[in-house]
Amino acid sequence: MSGTFDAIRFPSSENGTQIYKMLINGKWIESSNKKTFDVRNPYDGSIVGRVQKAARDDAENAVKSAFDAKKKIANMSAYDRAKILDKIADLVSEHKDDFVNVIVAESGKPVKVAGGEVEATIERFKFAADETKQITGDVLKGDNVPWHQEKIGIVIRQPVGVVLAVCPFNYPLFIGTAKIAPALAAGNSLVVKPASDDPICLFMLAKLMQDAGLPDGVLNMVSGSGSEIGDYLISHEKIDMISFTGSSDVGKHAAKIAGMKRLQMELGGKCPGLVFEDADLDMAAKECVTGALKFSGQRCDAISRILVAGKVADVFVKKVVSEVKKWKVGNPKDSDTLIGPMINETAVKKVDELVEDARKKGAKVLLGGNKGKGLFYQPTILDKVTTKMRIAWEETFGPVVTIIRVKNYEEAIRIANQSEFGLDSSVFTNGINKAIDAGLRVESGTVQINAAPAHGVGNFPFGGDKSSGMGREGVKTSIEEMTKLHTIVFNPKKPL
Ligand code: NAP
Ligand code: MG
Repeated sequence: MSGTFDAIRFPSSENGTQIYKMLINGKWIESSNKKTFDVRNPYDGSIVGRVQKAARDDAENAVKSAFDAKKKIANMSAYDRAKILDKIADLVSEHKDDFVNVIVAESGKPVKVAGGEVEATIERFKFAADETKQITGDVLKGDNVPWHQEKIGIVIRQPVGVVLAVCPFNYPLFIGTAKIAPALAAGNSLVVKPASDDPICLFMLAKLMQDAGLPDGVLNMVSGSGSEIGDYLISHEKIDMISFTGSSDVGKHAAKIAGMKRLQMELGGKCPGLVFEDADLDMAAKECVTGALKFSGQRCDAISRILVAGKVADVFVKKVVSEVKKWKVGNPKDSDTLIGPMINETAVKKVDELVEDARKKGAKVLLGGNKGKGLFYQPTILDKVTTKMRIAWEETFGPVVTIIRVKNYEEAIRIANQSEFGLDSSVFTNGINKAIDAGLRVESGTVQINAAPAHGVGNFPFGGDKSSGMGREGVKTSIEEMTKLHTIVFNPKKPL
């Protein structure tokens, strides 16, 4: 790893393991209680590094630092904020290999997918830099009501203040960026809590953000258990907004204890792929399998149930089987690996439980269906899944292609919408009317026509309905959510 990152870590005196520090008020520090925890490589269990286990005092100091730095960033010109965001993009680009290597090691993500994550991160910072210069307001005339028609209102966007970003494990760099970049673009200060499974890449990003000229205190980053410091941060009165990405259970809990704060909640999903009779079945099979298996299905927007029209189901399923066979399982460091290990034991257990439940209730296991070595789960195809099975409704977050055969178009739409989730969905059809009708009726934040779900780099709004969350995360939409409207009303007819 480049010497740039020496400032954020030191070798342990016992065995040389690198110990990463946390960033509070521009200083890289150890936790006040000297506690740390291991970050392990899901592929072989080796220790990637140790990170600080923040105590409450550290969380408090991080919030205080962000609170005190509010004005610093709010008063910085959009031009200067954009320059810093552009510089961050350049620095991440310069250190791309370091990021890829760390993401592969701490999350077990195949190197190709990790490369895509770093590229998307760079683009998102650039995009945020551009959008920083586009933040506008409005001028309103008061003559649309009977009273005080002479009034003129100027409406401008101001930063909300301190944004708390709570990040998930599955896109450890990119989702952190999806929160950090627009928060800074909008002129906010931040407290960031990375996921405990793979926090190191975000600390590396924080170092480059310092190097890019971000003033001390504007970005603070603390690692530690979500349940220990997470609740404390979420309910802290000096936090103005929470941008949370994670499971629906934790998100709902966070919303309950947050109090008067803005909330942007990016939660779980159970995205359907609706394959209609008139679809291009080769393309649909390829996209559905990519949607289901990328990063071992550990994606909120994974296609985790395919609703296929009964008439074409046999043909479609055959195509799915041959697509899944192309997904090479192996060491995430190898460039041809497409499926690596899962993130941790709990995740493997959950997938196994869901597959077992489906198998017991009559689903046909066409491929896989078992745990592999270590934290691997075999790429699995479950056919003839019914709505009585847990896997039809619960988030799988594993490499399982789940096929539900449906009678007709209406049944596909009905089952798609019966879910408690509503994040993303894919509709496969060659009929324009079906594409429009399903596009309008499927209840999810996004409906993709003839493509697997994809986050993109924030050019389209992204986010869910129902238990999948609230708010829309994109560059422009996040800037809107991370700013408040401030109105000044003039009465030019009144003497000064
Ligand atoms: P998670 O277990 O809910 O954790 C997410 C974050 O919340 C982590 O930083 C975690 O810290 C923290 N946390 C845990 N308990 C907390 C508590 N009581 N109070 C405050 N914070 C707490 O989610 P995950 O396993 O990392 O990620 C997978 C989930 O994220 C899936 O459900 C997936 O669908 C969802 N996701 C959604 C989107 C989207 O855009 N909608 C994108 C990606 C992922 P620790 O790591 O320290 O526990
Ligand atoms: Mg988790």
